Amino acid sequence: MAFEGLSDRLQSAMGTVSGKGKITEADLKQMMREVRLALLEADVNFKVVKKFVKTVNERALGANVLESLSPAQQVVKIVNEELTELMGGEQAPFNFSPKPPTVVMMVGLQGAGKTTTAGKLAKFMHKNEHKRPLLIAADVYRPAAIDQLQTLGEQLNYPVFSMGTDADPVEIARQGIERAKIDGRDLVIIDTAGRLHVDDQLMAELQNIKEVANPQEILLVVDSMTGQDAVNVAETFNERLDISGVVLTKLDGDTRGGAALSIRSVTGKPIKFTGQGEKLEDFEIFYPERMASRILGMGDIMTLIEKAQQDFDEEKAQEMADKIKANTFDFNDFLDQLDQVNKMGPLEDIIKMIPGLNKMAGLDQLKVDPKDTARMKAIVLSMTNEERENPEILSQQRRKRIAKGSARPLAEVNRLIKQFNESKKMMNQLSNGNMRGLENMMGA
Ligand code: GDP
Repeated sequence: MAFEGLSDRLQSAMGTVSGKGKITEADLKQMMREVRLALLEADVNFKVVKKFVKTVNERALGANVLESLSPAQQVVKIVNEELTELMGGEQAPFNFSPKPPTVVMMVGLQGAGKTTTAGKLAKFMHKNEHKRPLLIAADVYRPAAIDQLQTLGEQLNYPVFSMGTDADPVEIARQGIERAKIDGRDLVIIDTAGRLHVDDQLMAELQNIKEVANPQEILLVVDSMTGQDAVNVAETFNERLDISGVVLTKLDGDTRGGAALSIRSVTGKPIKFTGQGEKLEDFEIFYPERMASRILGMGDIMTLIEKAQQDFDEEKAQEMADKIKANTFDFNDFLDQLDQVNKMGPLEDIIKMIPGLNKMAGLDQLKVDPKDTARMKAIVLSMTNEERENPEILSQQRRKRIAKGSARPLAEVNRLIKQFNESKKMMNQLSNGNMRGLENMMGA
């Protein structure tokens, strides 16, 4: 999990003051020493760390925080605000061209995730902004790069403009944009070549593409796992190309956080998006405030709500609510629910986003075995439709047959049916406004 070490260490640093009614200057100093070490260990640029510690100190001492009624809370608030500021403060908007098409250049070193991110961005813009993307394959040095983009295009059903490996990348970009205009495509994403290291020739080529493409966005894709290297790369690309923003990939890995926390401060350019996995939907807008809260273990309720809204099928949810009200919720609905929950992703990731819950007794250690839901599903799928609709007919004999059919022990089948009946009862009580149901649920 990304930022785990940093997150733990920062929270333990905060722990040295939180809970104290009074904080002395020595307490603050001790805390800030630990914050400094935590950041350095996370591979945050040392100049950035120095400035950060200085600012937090000045604010804490300057505002008479130590004399305030809740000094610990105030200090944590300052750290949170300064972390947010470090990552750019406000979320940086994406620049659309007033006159279509909007042109985006993806740049970065080889392996950073450029091509994948081109596909992710296209999908994201289609889904959220109703854009009609065209992808341009301008990496002529690696034939596999063109194939990769073409495969992505097919998968997403977007056209890919390519002129093979013999054409000049600048010409490919120019003709690709023309094609987009003719075909009424309003978003053009140019996948450019990468190298293993920053090199002069490549930079010159990218500058030439920039000149003819006149892009609204030059997004530098950097691999967050490479820490300080990512920051150095960003500095060079920015000097040569004056990039408009950064996409930080592989935040799903165990990156220490250095790149995320230093890039903005060092280059002055905002992180606009993050990649959180290999799949095309593992892509999010970067919100500095939410990231700071997540790092400090304060949860990220906004992302959670958006995730729920995105993944849940509203019609299905309403249907479910009606069924609960009418007390006709059956095993078929139960199956639907399992699928809905599975769509939201691993439960342990969701728990991390809930403020307070993530550090509750052992919950942060919680690992939910996806096999559990698969087993439940197997049991329900072994029921006949009649049984699913009328669970009360599930006699012992039928249960034995289901156990055999799903290859699960009879006890497990019994347990699932019992749980189903209990939750059905509780849902019914709740939907009828019976508060006792709620009290029962809370174990009162
Ligand atoms: P390019 O050389 O910069 O075009 O990089 P690619 O798009 O080919 O990506 C290199 C590798 O990184 C591929 O195996 C991708 O699946 C993987 N990758 C890209 N973005 C992410 C991400 O956000 N998370 C993870 N885990 N892998 C990623």
